[in-house]
Amino acid sequence: VDQKHIRNFCIIAHIDHGKSTLADRLIEFTGVLTKREMEDQVLDTMDLERERGITIKAQSVRMDYTADDGEHYVLNLIDTPGHVDFTYEVSRALAACEGALLVVDASQGIEAQTLANVYMALEHDLEIIPVINKIDLPSAEPEKVKREIEEVIGLDTSIAIMASAKTGIGMKEILEAVVNFVPPPQGDERAPLRALIYDSFYDSYKGVVTYFRVFDGTVRKGDRIRFMATGKEFIVDDLYVFRPGLTPVDELRAGEVGALAAAIREVKNVRVGDTITRADNPAREPLPGYRKATPMVFTGLYPVESNDYGRLRDALEKLQLNDASLSFEPETSEALGFGFRCGFLGLLHMDVIQERLEREFDLNLITTAPNVVYRINLTGGGQVMIENPADWPDQTMIESVEEPVVKASIITPSEYVGPLMELCQDRRGTFINMEYLNEKRVNLHYKLPLSEIMYDFFDQLKTRSRGYASFDYEVTGYEQADMVKMDILLNGDPVDALSCIVHRDKAQKLGRSLVTRLRKLIPRQLFEVPIQAAIGNKILARENIAPLRKDVLAKCYGGDVTRKRKLLEKQKEGKKRMKAVGSVEIPQEAFMAVLSTD
Ligand code: GDP
Ligand code: MG
Repeated sequence: VDQKHIRNFCIIAHIDHGKSTLADRLIEFTGVLTKREMEDQVLDTMDLERERGITIKAQSVRMDYTADDGEHYVLNLIDTPGHVDFTYEVSRALAACEGALLVVDASQGIEAQTLANVYMALEHDLEIIPVINKIDLPSAEPEKVKREIEEVIGLDTSIAIMASAKTGIGMKEILEAVVNFVPPPQGDERAPLRALIYDSFYDSYKGVVTYFRVFDGTVRKGDRIRFMATGKEFIVDDLYVFRPGLTPVDELRAGEVGALAAAIREVKNVRVGDTITRADNPAREPLPGYRKATPMVFTGLYPVESNDYGRLRDALEKLQLNDASLSFEPETSEALGFGFRCGFLGLLHMDVIQERLEREFDLNLITTAPNVVYRINLTGGGQVMIENPADWPDQTMIESVEEPVVKASIITPSEYVGPLMELCQDRRGTFINMEYLNEKRVNLHYKLPLSEIMYDFFDQLKTRSRGYASFDYEVTGYEQADMVKMDILLNGDPVDALSCIVHRDKAQKLGRSLVTRLRKLIPRQLFEVPIQAAIGNKILARENIAPLRKDVLAKCYGGDVTRKRKLLEKQKEGKKRMKAVGSVEIPQEAFMAVLSTD
C-alpha cells in the first residue's frame, strides 16, 4: 500500500468512557468481522481484562475502508493499555501513530486520565480528533463537554464528532475524520529499516510475536533483523497484519503496522520501545524514546504450601514470557520460608499477576505488604537501592533515605476539594496548585510519595468525593524522606515478613494501630502472645493476644462437638491462608494490615 493511503491511529480515553466499545463498532462498521463473528470487545482479550474493564496488553486491528473520496484506505487501529501503570507502553503505542481519537463521555466530561492521555498525545504531535461519546444517554450534555474540551484542553472542536458507540451513531463520520485529518505516514521507503516495537506476546508455537510499526525501509520474510537495544539478531519466519487475527503477509513497508515471529524464545529480547533494523544494512540511529520499563512496586510472594515452591517458580516463568516488565528473584524469609521477591510496574500490575497465579496456576499464596524501592545514601559513601525491608541497613550506616515521588492530578467537583486536600496532606502530600476547569470542577495538583498512594488512596479518593473524583499520576523522581524500618515482634521475636518501611513521624501512630489490628487478626493460642512494634531497640507499642479461655477449651474437648469443630476447621483450612510462624498461625490479612487505615 502507498503511504498516502495508510492511517495509523489510536483511541485515548478515561476508563469507562467507551474506548473498547468504540473499537468494536469501528471493526464491525468496516466489516473486518460480522456482528455474529464478533465477540464483544475483541480488543480486550484476557478474562481478567474483561472483568476489570481495563486493557493490559495492547492489541491492534487493520481495517479496509473506502472513503467518500472513492479511495481505498488501510486504517490501523492501535490499542493502548488503559492504565497508569503502563504509561510507558501507552507512550510507545502513541509513538506508533499519527493521530488519536479522543473519546470523552458526554455525561461525564474530562477526567484525569483524559488529560494525561491528551498531554501524551500532544507530546507525540498526534492529530487529535475529539469524539463525544454516549450521546444516547439521557444525562448526556454533549455541547457542554465540547466547550470543556475547547476551554480546558484548547483543542479545536470544530471537527469534533458526536457519537454513540453503543448505537453506532457517528461511526462513518469518525472514519471520514481519520482519513481526512490524521496525516499519512511519511517514512523513507529507501532508507535502512527502522521499526518501533510497541508490544509483544508469547505464543508456544511461534515464540515471541513482536508488534511493530515500520517507520523507514521494508521488512520481508527471511530477513535477518537486529533489535538495536539488545543487539540480538533473528531471522524473520513470518510477518503478519491484524485482521484482527494474525494474517500472514510477505512484506511490510514504511508506514505499515504488523507483527513478526522469528523463533524468539524470550520476551526479554523484545523490549517495548526498541527499534528493529536489518542486520545486513542497519540503521545508524534507533528511533527515539527507548527506555527500559522499571518495576516500581515490590512484594514477597510465598506459597502457603511450601512444596508448591517449584510450581510457583514455573508459573512466574510462564507469566514472564509474556510480560517482560515482571521481575522476580528467589528470597527466603525466616517466617515464610522460600518464596520470591517480585517487582511490578504498579499496583494494578501486581494485582493482576497475583490473580493470574491463583486462578490460572491454582496457587495458594501469601503476599507481603508491597513496598517501593528506596535509595539509601550510606554514611561511608555510596548508594544502595532497597527493594526489600529485610535488606534495610542498620540505622548507623544510613546517611539519608530517598523515596520515589509522583506528581498527581486529581479532577473533582469543587465541593470535595476540602476533604481531598485533607487526604493528600495526610499522605505527606505537597500542594502544587489548583486550576479551575470550569465554575464547578477543579484540577488539583499534588506532589505525593509513591508509597502513600500505593494502597487505599484511590478508594479514599472515591469515598471522599462520592465517586466523582478521578486521579492520575506520574513518577517524577526521588526525594529525601525520613524513613525508618519498623519491626513487628511476636513472642519477642521479630517476624521478618511483617517488617515495613514507614515515615518516622508516622511510626508511633502506625505502630500502635498495627499491633491493635494484629491482635484481632491473629487467632488466639493456648498461651498469651505479646505483639510489639519496634524501631531498632525502641518499642513503640505493645498488645497481648489473650490465651483461649478455659471454657472454650472445655467445649473443644467434649465428644461430638470436637469432631464437628475439627470438621469445620478442616473445611476452613482449605480456604484460609495461614502461615505458622514459630508456634503462632498468621493469616494473610496480617501481612497486609500495615496498609489499611483504620
Ligand atoms: P473503556 O473502559 O473506555 O474501554 O470503556 P468500555 O468500552 O468498556 O465502556 C464502558 C461502559 O460504557 C460499558 O458498559 C459500555 O457498554 C458503555 N458504553 C460505551 N459506549 C457507550 C455509548 O455510546 N452509550 C452508552 N449508553 N453506553 C456506552
Ligand atoms: Mg476497555
